[in-house]
Amino acid sequence: MGESGPLGIAANRYTEAVRQAIDKFNTLVPNTTIKMREVFSQASCDITVHLAAFNTGRSGYAHYPLNGNPGSDVYLDLTDEGDYSTIPLATLLAAHELGHAIGLFHTDEIPNSSFTESYGYYSAGIFYLKRIPGTPDFATASNPTPDLNSFIIKNINIASGGWSQSLTNPSGVGFSNDDIAAIQFLYPFLK
Ligand SMILES: [Zn+2]
Repeated sequence: MGESGPLGIAANRYTEAVRQAIDKFNTLVPNTTIKMREVFSQASCDITVHLAAFNTGRSGYAHYPLNGNPGSDVYLDLTDEGDYSTIPLATLLAAHELGHAIGLFHTDEIPNSSFTESYGYYSAGIFYLKRIPGTPDFATASNPTPDLNSFIIKNINIASGGWSQSLTNPSGVGFSNDDIAAIQFLYPFLK
């Protein structure tokens, strides 16, 4: 892309990270119908990934699914990319936000009614959160981190160095066993 300057460098790194995150979903989650593919036409895409200087104070955020469709948009904020200064770290962030877009909530966030409609998971007095069978229960005050290895904990584990899980390193930083079980439950492979 030939972009230069700090934002251009960050954009290039995040672009690569999104590609790698897509590859992680496609290769490390067996027995699921979920498959992601990069397209360059907004008209033909399910999830638009925005890379820009949003100045939101959040490294990334995403819309949750709506009406049977994945969350329409993922935002990665180039003004807040300092914590994600390597491709493995940025990959962890990109996978995390794509995880929200396909319906996963933070495994270490205690559900409560302060969640707003704009967040997508609490509306008109109804929680749209469901615990996925076979995975740990919601976080509680006495058990705030039910799945320490989850890729979708609220405070992304920067100290981990970022994504290192691969087919040859299945125990690396990435999807936990329960993350994989959750994706398989949401997008089952139908024989
Ligand atoms: Zn998140």
